[in-house]
Amino acid sequence: MKEILVVAEIRQGEVRPITYELLNISKCVNGKITCILLGNDVKEIAKELADKADEVLLIQDDSLENFNSELYWHALKEVIEERKPYIVAMGHTSMGMDLAPYVADQLDLPIVTDIVRIEEKDGRLVVHKYVYNNKLLAELKLKESEGYVLTIRQGEFKDEVGGKEGSIIERSFSPPETLKKRFIEYIEPETVGVDISKADVIISVGRGIEDEANIELAEELAEMINGVVAGSRPVIDSGWLPKERQVGISGKTVKPKLYLALGISGAFQHIVGMKDSDLIIAINKDPEAPIFQVAHYGVVGDIFEIIPELVDKLNQ
Ligand SMILES: Cc1cc2nc3c(=O)[nH]c(=O)nc-3n(C[C@H](O)[C@H](O)[C@H](O)COP(=O)(O)OP(=O)(O)OC[C@H]3O[C@@H](n4cnc5c(N)ncnc54)[C@H](O)[C@@H]3O)c2cc1C
Repeated sequence: MKEILVVAEIRQGEVRPITYELLNISKCVNGKITCILLGNDVKEIAKELADKADEVLLIQDDSLENFNSELYWHALKEVIEERKPYIVAMGHTSMGMDLAPYVADQLDLPIVTDIVRIEEKDGRLVVHKYVYNNKLLAELKLKESEGYVLTIRQGEFKDEVGGKEGSIIERSFSPPETLKKRFIEYIEPETVGVDISKADVIISVGRGIEDEANIELAEELAEMINGVVAGSRPVIDSGWLPKERQVGISGKTVKPKLYLALGISGAFQHIVGMKDSDLIIAINKDPEAPIFQVAHYGVVGDIFEIIPELVDKLNQ
């Protein structure tokens, strides 16, 4: 049976959400899903991951407390050479971008990065990724190989697998005596107000909101329905909302239960970031606006008439 080796991502003792997305690859490609967990004192995490993998390979050592691509490679090498997995999968994150090319180069395996979809067609592995500055979605039929290294874009594979009760196998690790790279310090990223990628309800405003002062309208509505306000790129570029509130290809990918798009045309670069929301409702005065192609419900109308009415109704 083919094996898919997922490299778990741990930061400051916690599993990064991308790990769960990677484990979800088992829904796209047939094979045994093995999760390799490298860290220090991470046995409890291994138990959690075993719910979503057929097997968890646990490698614990003081030296693996923080990510170091050189050390990770040493820990991974033996496993990969022994198991010869069909796919070695990592997140398209700072960790994956550092480690994956190195692994591919060392093992002379083909690599495809920043993948948004994977499937098998006629016995061949087919992956999808955006090219030409995210303007085109390419479908790549990979040349035959005994294995592949892939990095997966965050937010593209829903966290759905579970109930696997995989086995946990602990392996020993002896770090090399000399290393070219060493961990110096972890610098906590500056905390920003709201993480829209975790929000259940998003009120998203586009250029149709016309002015910074009108954002208040969306904020009032958001407050009433426990939502957060996000926006399209022009709104962010105008400085009306902070950068971390941008939805889209150069912003964040979101999957809320409700995405309410107000005055957003639905450019491809925006759609990519919100198309998988559970329920999309769009209000736009242009009946031809592309946003209606992805919306579950569309209202053709003026947001400055509809939103105050909606707020009034909710107040009743
Ligand atoms: C490399 C690159 C990366 C990009 N990344 C992103 C990204 O991450 N996110 C993103 O959003 N964009 C991104 N863009 C920009 C993208 O191409 C679009 O320009 C942008 O999404 C358009 O934003 P919008 O829909 O708010 O504005 P517009 O396209 O100007 O649309 C405004 C809409 O509001 C409607 N409207 C106007 N007034 C009202 C009203 N009173 N009531 C109802 N409807 C009204 C109009 O009919 C129109 O459809 C990127 C572009 C490039 C080239």
